[in-house]
Amino acid sequence: MKRRIEAFTEGSFDLCIIGGGITGAGAALDAATRGWRVALIERGDFASGTSSASSKLIHGGLRYLEYGHLRLVHEALIERGRLLRNAPHLVQPLPFVLPFYQGQRVAPWKWRLGLTLYDLLAGRENIARSRRLSIRRVQSVAPPIRSHDLRGGALFYDALMDDARLCLAVLRTASRHGAIVANYVEAVGFEKHQGTIIGVWAEDRLTGQRILIRCRAVLNAAGPGVDAVCRLAGEVGEPRLQPTKGVHLIAPARGHRAACLLLHPRDGRVFFVIPWYGKTLIGTTDTFAEPGPAVLQVLPDEVAYLLEGYNAYFEETLRSDEVMGTFAGLRPLIRARPGEPSSLSREFCIHEAAGGLVTALGGKYTTFRAIAEAIVDRLAAILGESGHCRTVGLRLVGAPKAPWAEFLAEKTAAIAKGFPVDTDSAAHLVRRYGEEVDAVLAKMCDVPDGFARVHPEEPDLIGEQRWQRDEEMAIQPADFFLRRSRIGMWRRDVLSEPEA
Ligand SMILES: Cc1cc2nc3c(=O)[nH]c(=O)nc-3n(C[C@H](O)[C@H](O)[C@H](O)COP(=O)(O)OP(=O)(O)OC[C@H]3O[C@@H](n4cnc5c(N)ncnc54)[C@H](O)[C@@H]3O)c2cc1C
Repeated sequence: MKRRIEAFTEGSFDLCIIGGGITGAGAALDAATRGWRVALIERGDFASGTSSASSKLIHGGLRYLEYGHLRLVHEALIERGRLLRNAPHLVQPLPFVLPFYQGQRVAPWKWRLGLTLYDLLAGRENIARSRRLSIRRVQSVAPPIRSHDLRGGALFYDALMDDARLCLAVLRTASRHGAIVANYVEAVGFEKHQGTIIGVWAEDRLTGQRILIRCRAVLNAAGPGVDAVCRLAGEVGEPRLQPTKGVHLIAPARGHRAACLLLHPRDGRVFFVIPWYGKTLIGTTDTFAEPGPAVLQVLPDEVAYLLEGYNAYFEETLRSDEVMGTFAGLRPLIRARPGEPSSLSREFCIHEAAGGLVTALGGKYTTFRAIAEAIVDRLAAILGESGHCRTVGLRLVGAPKAPWAEFLAEKTAAIAKGFPVDTDSAAHLVRRYGEEVDAVLAKMCDVPDGFARVHPEEPDLIGEQRWQRDEEMAIQPADFFLRRSRIGMWRRDVLSEPEA
């Protein structure tokens, strides 16, 4: 995937997409695989907005059953199954432990009923049936969970991903199908003819160059920024989104082999403890986002809230000075009942404005493929295009043909034998690049110290940066260390210039 700004001015596009998060990436892939000429611009780096700050779950959302969102949960569970097949290197099954405590907001029978429904809604896409756990089995979760008032629990399955890399894989797959995509290009205005949009004015933020991208349709996929893009197109009126802020902590590995779904002791909200890249993710908060440049700053109160939640459940307590990193994201939620962030709609809808701007509102990461299908179907109706969606069984770049477990074991052994890397780093390369790992290794051989670790305690290797620069459009240090690799999220000291 190469950054070629001049390609945006070569002829006219069927669709120009504003926003390189998962919503824009999904739409680019859907439209490109239907044979459309697609342009996608992202003002920062790909996935630098909400799509790198999620809880990393590809899930049905067990807690949405509380609000009766059966259709939403069913759709997400079906999409979860498809992603496990289409991107097995980036999305993997994750066991969850759900402990039941005396006197909690949700009674054990309700959880059991919810889990039975969850299994049923997944149908043939279920990973494995949920089951009851005895008190002793819940306690055997490492690290030990608090036993006071414990009444047993349940085990169920969802899936875990690397959000920024999944978004990148979707974009690179779209690019292979002909989409022209670039990061650091911002939509700054619209070209209109008799009130109808016929192009997007864009600025290359690396050079300051302004270009006009001519197109038949424009998709506003700016996530929490969609209202600003609507205003840019001349729309007036109330904002359509009410973003809420979600904070996560990254803590050292605590031996969590399964994720935990827990209820916060202060307000009864669901929060998660998730093993991720050998670390522990704890999140999330859910508060109305205060507009302004500091909106994504993580506040001491937010850290304290999450630590309070964690420490209420685990015997080995976590101190604030042990937290290795924090991150915050904005949920692009559709405005709903005022006053209650958790009841805001996670649903998705498409808004069409008079000038022809089509805006994607809401949604969640898990359902990005279905959302993209709905968006492009709507655009096809507007443009009078025939053809149908081709992404249901479309494997993303890097997805191996062989069964994942087999592929992982065989490739890891072969790499550890054939290259100067240990098994940890070899497995890390296979998980990150899937079937493309051989091409990555070929590039790494050209880099001095390419097989040395970026940080002694992490499996990431210096030579990967050459691939990330050449094939994944990484430009700034944060692109390399926060999104192509993730170690800058918990090892801030690596956030310097890349070495390859
Ligand atoms: C804390 C948190 C946890 C979550 N956890 C999960 C989870 O576990 N599972 C799940 O399924 N979902 C989860 N979600 C929801 C999910 O992450 C989001 O729905 C999804 O990432 C939104 O993607 P997006 O592409 O719409 O927005 P973004 O990822 O924000 O992308 C929009 C992009 O548009 C760009 N942009 C804006 N204006 C312009 C412009 N003028 N020109 C060019 N580009 C522009 C921005 O830079 C940005 O990169 C979570 C959300 C949050 C906040």
